[in-house]
Amino acid sequence: MAKIRFMALEQLASRESSGAKSAKPSALFADDVFTMSKMRTYLSIEAYRKLEKAMAEGEPIDRSLADQVASAMKAWAMEKGVTHYTHWFAPLNGATAEKHDSFIDLLPDGTAIESFDGKLLIQQEPDASSFPNGGIRNTFEARGYTAWDPASPAFINNGTLCIPTVFVAYTGEALDFKTPMLKALAAIDKAATEICQYFDKDVKKVYATLGWEQEYFLVDEALYNARPDLKLCGRTLMGHQSAKDQQLEDHYFGSIPGRVTAFMEELEQECHKLGIPVKTRHNEVAPNQFECAPVFEEANLAVDHNQLLMSTIKKIARKHRFRALLHEKPYKGVNGSGKHNNWSLMTDTGVNLLSPGRNPKSNMQFLIFLVSTVKAVSEYADLFKACIVSLGNESRLGGDEAPPVVMSVFLGQYLSSVLDELEKKVTDRKMTPDEKTELKLNVGRIPEIMLDNTDRNRTSPFAFTGNRFEFRAVGSSANCGGPMIVLNTAVAKQLADFKNEVESLVENGVKRDEAIFQTLRQYIIDSKKIRFEGNGYSREWLKEAEARGLSTEQDCIPSLRAYISEKAKSLFVGMGIFSERELEARFEIKNEIYMKKLQIEARVMGDLALNHIIPIAIVYQNRLLENVRGLKEMFGDASFYAPQLENIRSVSSHINTISVLVDEMIEARKKANTIEDMVKRAEEYTEKVRPYLEKIRYEIDKLELMVDDEIWPLPKYRELLFSR
Ligand code: ADP
Ligand code: MG
Repeated sequence: MAKIRFMALEQLASRESSGAKSAKPSALFADDVFTMSKMRTYLSIEAYRKLEKAMAEGEPIDRSLADQVASAMKAWAMEKGVTHYTHWFAPLNGATAEKHDSFIDLLPDGTAIESFDGKLLIQQEPDASSFPNGGIRNTFEARGYTAWDPASPAFINNGTLCIPTVFVAYTGEALDFKTPMLKALAAIDKAATEICQYFDKDVKKVYATLGWEQEYFLVDEALYNARPDLKLCGRTLMGHQSAKDQQLEDHYFGSIPGRVTAFMEELEQECHKLGIPVKTRHNEVAPNQFECAPVFEEANLAVDHNQLLMSTIKKIARKHRFRALLHEKPYKGVNGSGKHNNWSLMTDTGVNLLSPGRNPKSNMQFLIFLVSTVKAVSEYADLFKACIVSLGNESRLGGDEAPPVVMSVFLGQYLSSVLDELEKKVTDRKMTPDEKTELKLNVGRIPEIMLDNTDRNRTSPFAFTGNRFEFRAVGSSANCGGPMIVLNTAVAKQLADFKNEVESLVENGVKRDEAIFQTLRQYIIDSKKIRFEGNGYSREWLKEAEARGLSTEQDCIPSLRAYISEKAKSLFVGMGIFSERELEARFEIKNEIYMKKLQIEARVMGDLALNHIIPIAIVYQNRLLENVRGLKEMFGDASFYAPQLENIRSVSSHINTISVLVDEMIEARKKANTIEDMVKRAEEYTEKVRPYLEKIRYEIDKLELMVDDEIWPLPKYRELLFSR
């Protein structure tokens, strides 16, 4: 199974066999990864073959083989000066977790040795009681365990041997992203392979592929340190817009500033050593916003690599005296950061199933995968939305070039017309053979047309881009595992349904080609409501989307309910991805995380308002007062100090409003905190606490424009966005 997963790695790491280091980036590639080719060196031939076979067939690895792999890993790692190892996993707080253990062990005679065996490789029992568990694991029975995922290779990071693992409760429920994602990837493999078998008996396996595009901001370290909101919330809670930001569109693809280039070069080098095939780097639309993207990989590996990339970006940024902001909307009024998930399906024979073929047969296949994906988004639109919403993404979606919160699929003019035609052609009668050929030929023209079809709709949350779908609504700080679970499960379900429908038609005497056309047509009709080619920002779309029955809910908390809907339960439980309890736990965790982040923001806002902004505003107010007193003494005539008086009134009024609002916000928070039920508390926070953040900000941003720049306590947007 894992063979293809390693293919990209192996290809890019081919220099390994060539030995000597050169200056080429490929020379470093996967230097810190225990790749298959390294295993070949460190394992006996027999053990290597056994491992390869077990991985290819997805079978469990027995203890004696695990012992051999562990000892090979240890030998390799120790040669590189490594002394510690850790199981590396992705708990539901969205971060990655590791608990380091030393290789060191004591023999009965008191001498120390380095040891690492199969048992330690395969499984650990971290006392991980403080990871979010949504009620699955009480703290008094805090045992969870991590188990090796042989499909993702071990690597060395920060001098520690990291072993990618799943993380589950002692009772078996998943507490991470990887466990259900591996199940979803297995489900899509099965369903897609069965469809491929209609066309090519050689296809034995289908892999989901993922190429993420990671957007982020850099900010100078000193400025960052002077902004408690950036430090504690990852975003600015206040700050008046800079006179110039992105309106001239002069940052996008502009030349990359020297200090940033140095950072990027080191980041890329570090990524390459870790086997992350980053390839593209450029400036993004907002000032100080950047993007990096890799060559796509098998989805499980790509998800691990994105997690690793996020921590590496942060690490390298610090070395260059920057801080990296992965928050979806660090600055109001300029573009936020997303993480487009480019997704497709690839057979073990090397065919991209979402790439239009050059002959009628492969185009039939293409259409099945295309239409089933569209149908999956249509059927489970609410889940597609639920898996990407978060407190951070809430402020990104719907503005400044991010997609709106309404789910829709963009296919581009040409494919839309192909689907429309297919739908019409068979409305009330069977297609004639000529029509079928014509249709297949039309589809056959897609590749050429797609090539120069740069018809990109930036406002679409889910767009077809020639040979893949691009899920653009995903937030920049998210673990891609969340969307990958929903997308692969939903499409797997549609493909399985597709096959069942075709087969039942065939059983009733319909020819298979005809059965496929009929089912396609039905799917096209059923999923029409999700297709949208227009401007996702327009008011008309919001209205129309509502009329189409699509969710236009703007808020995160109500959108999360999709996780516990009957539809979600029947999908996930039916496909064997989540139990009901696991779904409920995930729902609760998402509510909890949202609520806690909002709580932190409200606290930081209160602190900044009371301890930073108001005192400075008072200092300024006193200066004005003194000034007025002096003017009055000297001139007596009110016309001499009228503008200052007006200023004093204004400053005072903002100060008063801020204090009242902060008091009210604190009260609202206290009240919300008494609510036991996590979901209700999150709702209360959304409704009663959240609005204060904007209201208080408004007043503070006005003050920022009045108070003497010299004493204003926080770095301003123009500094944060333009210093580098
Ligand atoms: P753009 O900004 O135009 O969308 P980028 O080059 O920044 O393009 O990103 C495109 C991403 O799509 C890359 O990560 C690339 O590897 C990925 N990609 C290309 N083909 C596929 C595919 N078949 N499956 C998954 N991802 C793909
Ligand atoms: Mg893209």
